[in-house]
Amino acid sequence: MQTVTLNNGVQMPMLGFGVYQIPADQTERAVAQALETGYRLLDTAAAYGNEEAVGHAVKNSGIRREELFVTTKLWVQNAPAQDNTRRALETSLAKLGLDHVDLYLMHQPYGDVYGQWRAMESARREGLTRAIGVANFYPDRLLDLILNNETAPQVNQIETHPFFQRDPDHALMREHRVQHQAWGGFAEGRNDLFTHPVLSRIGEAHGKSVAQVVLRWLVQRDIVTIPKSVNPDRMAQNIDVFDFALTDDQMAAIAALDTGRTLFFDHHDPEMVAWLSKRRIEG
Ligand code: NAP
Repeated sequence: MQTVTLNNGVQMPMLGFGVYQIPADQTERAVAQALETGYRLLDTAAAYGNEEAVGHAVKNSGIRREELFVTTKLWVQNAPAQDNTRRALETSLAKLGLDHVDLYLMHQPYGDVYGQWRAMESARREGLTRAIGVANFYPDRLLDLILNNETAPQVNQIETHPFFQRDPDHALMREHRVQHQAWGGFAEGRNDLFTHPVLSRIGEAHGKSVAQVVLRWLVQRDIVTIPKSVNPDRMAQNIDVFDFALTDDQMAAIAALDTGRTLFFDHHDPEMVAWLSKRRIEG
């Protein structure tokens, strides 16, 4: 598996397995299948309610810990967040059955962001996580966090797919050496992504599926991707994107699909800010 080197020297696989919306009682099986298929990066979150199941699959896989890259995420914490963040990470570690994760992400740019970030920096210093980062940070908030803290995030995980390509975000992240990671790389199938004529034509030219074209397009933009599937054939298909390359013309044809807008929710919408900020995850 191709890897990227984060700004603190940690190596991260270029492609992994996301478990959002996999019900807890199906997650252990799905993760076990993903590990058998060859995935080594697993992406979960306290908010997904399936960290324990991910932990069971990891434990039962027999794969050495150092071969795995496990990401989990901190949900929004009230101020002062120092102790709450530490407790939330300890809870996640206990559920995962691990003494450290490889990447700990602040899931949303809300709550006591500075308190959360400083607690995450401490956790990294103590070895509870090898890298730290954020998710859903738009360029304004990301730059504020970078400029007003000791260390820049290693990763920013944001909605990125052919209909919302995030070029300005990508440029800012590149400038500050923050690794761009895509969530919703397939836009969860919205806008009929899997039968889109432009993507289908490119797939036919390579003997690859639309899903493989999209993942290859992300990889060629140096974006780490974490497709979710509960289907073993699709899991195998989604990791098999390192034996072909899109041409400049094909990259340009996909670039033309960008609408510059989210297909999910806008993190600047006051109703969404209120909804996400009020939500609390029980330990
Ligand atoms: P996604 O990966 O864009 O799409 C998943 C959907 O695509 C599922 O319905 C899946 O169905 C289908 N699919 C997968 N492979 C396919 C293939 N080869 N052919 C046809 N259909 C296929 O969506 P996502 O799960 O939202 O995003 C990926 C990961 O990003 C998540 O699992 C999570 O880890 C992370 N995420 C993070 C955030 C955040 O706020 N940080 C938000 C959302 C997601 P089947 O399962 O039936 O195959």
